[in-house]
Amino acid sequence: DASGTGVDPARVVALTEREEAVFAARHQRCGALHERARASMPGGVPMSWMAKWAGPFPLSVATASGSRFTCADGVEFVDLCLGDTGAMTGHSPPAAVAAVARQAARGITLMLPTEDAAVVAEELTSRFGLPQWQFTLSATDANRHVVRYARHLTGRPRVLVADACYHGSVDETFATLDREGRVVPRRGNIGPPVPPSATTSVVQFNDVAAVERELSTGEIACVLMEPAMTNVGIVLPEPGYHEALRSLTEQHGTVLVLDETHTLCAGPGGMTAADRLRPDVVTLGKALGSGVPCGAFGMTAEVADRVRRSVELEDVDVGGVGGTLAGNALSLAAMRATLQQVLTPDAFAGMLPLGARWAEGVAGVLADQQVPWHVTRLGARAEYAFAPVPPRTGREAAAADDFPLQTLLHLSALNAGILLTPFHNMALLAPTTTAEDVDRHTAAFAAVLEELVA
Ligand code: PMP
Repeated sequence: DASGTGVDPARVVALTEREEAVFAARHQRCGALHERARASMPGGVPMSWMAKWAGPFPLSVATASGSRFTCADGVEFVDLCLGDTGAMTGHSPPAAVAAVARQAARGITLMLPTEDAAVVAEELTSRFGLPQWQFTLSATDANRHVVRYARHLTGRPRVLVADACYHGSVDETFATLDREGRVVPRRGNIGPPVPPSATTSVVQFNDVAAVERELSTGEIACVLMEPAMTNVGIVLPEPGYHEALRSLTEQHGTVLVLDETHTLCAGPGGMTAADRLRPDVVTLGKALGSGVPCGAFGMTAEVADRVRRSVELEDVDVGGVGGTLAGNALSLAAMRATLQQVLTPDAFAGMLPLGARWAEGVAGVLADQQVPWHVTRLGARAEYAFAPVPPRTGREAAAADDFPLQTLLHLSALNAGILLTPFHNMALLAPTTTAEDVDRHTAAFAAVLEELVA
């Protein structure tokens, strides 16, 4: 085959046409709702990226609960996407729903703290080891604010990121390296305020020498990285990588920010706790409030103290860190319930073995069919990719992508009643996911691969 994926591209096209026809016939009401929505929303979706789902139109959801949802046509799905981590708790966990309902009836947003705020901050301190917390409405905002603080504290202009990273819609992060190793805008970057080369340095994940080179310019305010990359497939850190990141950032006075928005799937305190990492700042979002908009960043006492000493109280509302609804009563109630009753250590004890079961199931199918792909896993998250060995860098991971093949696999999963995480081949397991759900995916994956290699 010409694609490097080990399967015939013509076969992918033929199977995709067949699966699209099955999908369209089965989801006529979703199709009609989409037709109507096109008149009032570009692409017929409330946010542009929702148009990118596999299939002729996106599913329209009627109800969701636990690890399942039902579309407008009444078809039930096992949800392994879980709102791309926003619903890692399972959909509408009863404890969070009760807390949100209680708080919604008692005041939603006040620009004043509630008791829940300190409870949530204390809980996050016990999990991540960082003593000072602030709250936002999204992980994106947490990252944006932290990048500002880092520039403010260090007086340095640049952020260092990993190639092919994703940290939300944060301007500084839409940068990549061209063939000559120059920083250029990432493909598809919409309206950058300044060329990313002015704000951003880029290294390949796991490349310690490159980190050292960039930090020694003295221009890097912060390193912003996921402890393991999860947005270009999963790229795990090699032994020693995090130790090197920590000692180099310390040596160069650069703020080390770990974005644990997705890597929270590794355990109750993310990879920070699981691997005993020592970041200056951790950012979080998505699942923290069972899907109710919220985000957070935790700081060392030293970072928090430097911020306090350098930001005048009189200016604290207009400095670029804030948000009227940030830290609101509703999202804090959701976070408290989520941390204390949903994403508990016990819940993770059930989720992690399911992650292993999913990965072993997929690996078994790949071996049976002799397809040269691999599976990677991080706790309750796992992913397969179209290359024989796991990538060391985001660039390697991106190079293994094949959009038509990915689209087919998503579509055939949908037609088997399974929703995967879009734009790569990832599954996330919630406290409500069952072994039967996992095995259903394994069986469906085996069926489509058998047809692909036939
Ligand atoms: N950080 C990481 C690691 C993410 O994966 C994402 C979203 N995929 C974000 C931040 C941004 O989250 P949000 O869009 O909810 O702000």
